Amino acid sequence: MLKLGIVGISGRMGHALYDSMMGMDGVKLCCGIDRNVQSLPAGCNVEVVPSVQDLKTLPQVFVDFTRPACSLEVLRFASEHGVSYVLGTTGFDDAGKVEIAACAAKIPLVMASNFSVGINMLLALVKQTAAIMQDADVEIVEAHHRYKVDAPSGTALSLGEAAALGRGVELKDVMVSGRHGITGERQYGTIGFSSIRGGDIVGDHSVMFCADGELVELKHHASSRATFARGALRAARWLEGRAPGLYGMPEVLGLQA
Ligand code: NAD
Repeated sequence: MLKLGIVGISGRMGHALYDSMMGMDGVKLCCGIDRNVQSLPAGCNVEVVPSVQDLKTLPQVFVDFTRPACSLEVLRFASEHGVSYVLGTTGFDDAGKVEIAACAAKIPLVMASNFSVGINMLLALVKQTAAIMQDADVEIVEAHHRYKVDAPSGTALSLGEAAALGRGVELKDVMVSGRHGITGERQYGTIGFSSIRGGDIVGDHSVMFCADGELVELKHHASSRATFARGALRAARWLEGRAPGLYGMPEVLGLQA
């Protein structure tokens, strides 16, 4: 039985993880962390503490969907105590990413901006299409619920990185985000991002390859957070017995990166 700790157990993804775990063999919830202990999933009767420093029972794997500051604190603790890690939080800055890599030298860690199987398929297709349709203008449009705090979404950035990889360029050199006002003509080779926020949209992503005379659009629509939760739990089970290192969903799913 794999003992899990959910970081952010009172959040939207925390609830989805809890619900998905309940019907799953071979995994057991042993603890939770959340500064909001008023909104726990119904029926949750394990130890839940506001900070990792208060935890009395250590899990074998932390599954974390919170905010960057919280994730880095729990991750530091996990790397010091040999607890494996599934990291779903998005919005890390460059310093945060360096710290994640340093922690992954001590523990096995799966990090993904999106744990759905469909999005990971899409990443592979985007890389391939970007390489073949070399002259097409790439535009990425994402839509999320009104509570999301970062933009573009972590998934949109991963899709941009996949397109950039297909073109043999660095995303940071070609990225254009949130156009406004007199922007001038579109520059050749750039990758554009647009973000929509509203209602309860779980997560929509579209990558458009706009060429002269034709357009290819690759789309993904997530209708339930259960898809991310199931992917994260699959990653948690995959981590059992792994060597320390920073892994991604292509490895978990056996897809070519
Ligand atoms: P949410 O706001 O509903 O939940 C976050 C939870 O973390 C809250 O319950 C909050 O109380 C807790 N928290 C935040 N800071 C804390 C701290 N310092 N100490 C203790 N608890 C703290 O958010 P959500 O919609 O569940 O999303 C969480 C994160 O997961 C976001 O970064 C989002 O972009 C990301 N996400 C990733 C995927 C993926 O597949 N990788 C899917 C969905 C969401």
